[in-house]
This record gives sequence, structure tokens and C-alpha cells, in this order.
Amino acid sequence: MEDSGWKVYSAASGEEGLKLACEHKPEAIICDLLMPGINGYQVCRKIRADTAFVTQPRIIVISSSNYGTDRETSLAAGADDFLLKPVKPSELLHLLNQESGTTFFFRKSDFDGKRPTSDTSVFSTSIGTKTRVRFWGVRGSIATPGPHTVKYGGNTTCVEVRADGQLIILDAGTGIRQLGRKLAGEFKGKPMDIHMLITHTHWDHIQGFPFFIPAYDPKNQITVMGYEGAKMGLEHSLSSQMESPYFPIAMRQMPSNLKIVEASENEFYIGDIQVKTMFANHPGICLGYRLNTSAGSICFFPDNEPHSRLRMAPMGDSVQSYEVLSYAQKQDEKLIEFIRDADVLIMDSQYDATEYKSHIGWGHGCVDDVVAIAVIARVKKLFLHHHDPDHDDEMIDEMGDWANELVAIHGGETEVEPAREGLEVVLRRERGDLAGSRGKGEKKSAGQEK
Ligand SMILES: [Zn+2]
Ligand SMILES: [Zn+2]
Repeated sequence: MEDSGWKVYSAASGEEGLKLACEHKPEAIICDLLMPGINGYQVCRKIRADTAFVTQPRIIVISSSNYGTDRETSLAAGADDFLLKPVKPSELLHLLNQESGTTFFFRKSDFDGKRPTSDTSVFSTSIGTKTRVRFWGVRGSIATPGPHTVKYGGNTTCVEVRADGQLIILDAGTGIRQLGRKLAGEFKGKPMDIHMLITHTHWDHIQGFPFFIPAYDPKNQITVMGYEGAKMGLEHSLSSQMESPYFPIAMRQMPSNLKIVEASENEFYIGDIQVKTMFANHPGICLGYRLNTSAGSICFFPDNEPHSRLRMAPMGDSVQSYEVLSYAQKQDEKLIEFIRDADVLIMDSQYDATEYKSHIGWGHGCVDDVVAIAVIARVKKLFLHHHDPDHDDEMIDEMGDWANELVAIHGGETEVEPAREGLEVVLRRERGDLAGSRGKGEKKSAGQEK
């Protein structure tokens, strides 16, 4: 470099380098990432935060790391360029002679940017015409494998819906991994066009996403939809669980055509399917969805705590005021309106009445309340969902039996069953209905195939 006319100061550590930089205010800083004491990311951040640099230097990070996530993190920390070691002197000089700006020199293994667009017609034909709902994960909070959860399954929330030529995935808990494997086997390299509706970004609803194989195929189109979270946007929440300390591949490196959409409307369409959203009662921002398909409607509230009983709980020594209770009741009525006449309702029923007493305000439902709401809303089929990690198969069986007893007590007609991994429900019109008719009051039945 000196032969090429540069004046060079060299340092053996991050600290020393920072000191030299402050003293001499160089035009460019060439910095390793892995250094004892202050590492390369910290050097970048400290230089960028130092207002004593009236003209900020160009920072070139050099590293032996060929992981894209390290490049991304360097740039986020303030580096302008990233060079993979070993660095050729000519490469470095060439870069220094170029105008400043983000430059990458890295090996051929990176994606070439060619992303074939997906052919949805291929996709539609293999989706079929019936509306199908399949459970891939039904557990709440954390995956719970083991001999006591074999019947209902240990994976966290993920539900697949196929209807009207669309493939929709509801939440991306650990169950999505097996769904991804199944889709990869089924489509055998043909492009997929997937819509993923996320209720919220609590870990049990997004943790499987980095393991979703179709997201690694550039032929696939994946549209992830949800709302901005309480503290950060949907994209940030999804990508932060894939940041370097937690996962080896950054979300930006997923080669599928990944589109994150923050829904601003509470009603939109995916193809011919009308999607409605409603805020659930759950810590942070959490949604419930209603999908109106040509063969029936599906409501999905994996995390929700009904308002009434929550607000009925005494506050300290005093009982809640009438105003508070009537407000709570109105909120539950809104939910009842939203799910009214649904063919399938999948709803958080994590606790029984005894457990709920010690879990008031945790954001999850009590089976007694959920059944009452479903009966009032004249839901045809209720699936108890978000099973507690401490509930074994036997306990879930008992909750299912109790739920059906409650329906009888209420004089309702709702069928209730605990959601089970692998269970598939097919919605179809009853015989005699006009094909293609989407009129109101149409009779449908929710039959089970598996
Ligand atoms: Zn949850
Ligand atoms: Zn949650």
C-alpha cells in the first residue's frame, strides 16, 4: 500500500486501532472482525458514533468468514465494504481507488439474483378444489415432544389451509418444519405460491420459520402477512430470530421470493378467499383471522383470552365495576360476531377452569369460556387449540370430553374436538347445494378424513 502512495498506520488490536484512528483521522480503516478485546463490529460502531470524525472514514472489513450473516452484520454496524480473506493487494487497492460505497467481494456461492417467477397455474391444479384444514402443530408456548404427547403432538402452532386454489399457512410454529418437508416432496421442484398469515410473533408462532424448506427454493413465492408488533415491525421480529447469535442464516439470505406485508386493512383477499382480521386479547399485538372460502369459513384464534372472566376477577379487595364488566362483555360480543356461523373455529383453550384461576391475565383461554362463545356464535366445529405444555394426552382427552358435556349443558349443536397434529378436516357443501354458489346461509358440513 505504501508503494502505491498510501500512508499506513498499523495496530495489533481493536483498542489500539481506535486510538490511532482518533489521532490521525485516516481516509480509510481496514479492520478485521475477529480481534481480541474490541472486535471489528464494535470498532465500526464506535467510529460511526464518534462525532470527532468530521469526515467519516471509509471502513473496509476483512474477514475469513464466508457467512453472509457476518457480512450483513458488518454493514449494519457501519462498514462500507467487506472483503473475504485472503485479500489480494490488487483487490484492496482497486477498492480503495473506487468511489466509496458498499462493495462486496465474495465467492461464487452467493445467489445470482435470478429468481424465476412462480407459475400459480401449476400450483392451483395440485391444490384441489375442496377446502382442507390440516393441523401441523397444536401446542402452545413451547414444543413438547415425548411419550405423553404422542396422540395430540408436541409441535407448536401451524395450520395448513388449502382452498380455492390457494395455499395458506396459519402461523409458523415448529409444526411448519414437517409441513415444509411434505410440500417439498409433493411439489418436487415445481414453484409454490404460499401465503403465510402470522397472528403474532411470540416465539411459539414463528420459531419454525427458519426451518421451512420451501423458503430456501428461489422458485417459490412466499408472502408473509401480519401486523406491526408492539415494539418492532413484523419483518424485524421475524428476521431478528435469525440474526447471528441465534441462527446461522439471515432471513435476507433465504433465496425464495419472500415478501413481508404488514396488513393495514382488516379485510383483504387472497385470490377468491376473503380474509378478515380482528385483534385478539393477548399481550402485545395479536390477531385472529377469518377465512371465508367457497366451501366454508375457518376462524383462527390460537392465542386469546376472553375478556369477561378476566375482568370479572377481583382487583385487590374490590370487585370490578359494572362499567368494566359491561365493557368486557361488549368485547366478547365483538368476537362472537366475528366468528358467527363459522364452519371451523380453532381457538386457544389452554386451561381448564381450575387452572385458569391461577393463570388469569396470561393471555390464554379457559375451555369453559371458549365453548360458551362458540355455542353462542353457532360455530359448527370447534377445535380446542394451544394445548398447555404440561397437558398430556390424557388431560387433553378429558378437556375434550368436558367441552362436549358443556355444549350439551348449553343446549348447543357445536361439535368439539381437541386439535391434533396430523388431523385433516375437509369442508364441503352438503348434497343438494348449488355448485359454485356462495350465498348466505348455505349449508355446509365439516367432515374429517383422518
Ligand atoms: Zn402462543
Ligand atoms: Zn402468544
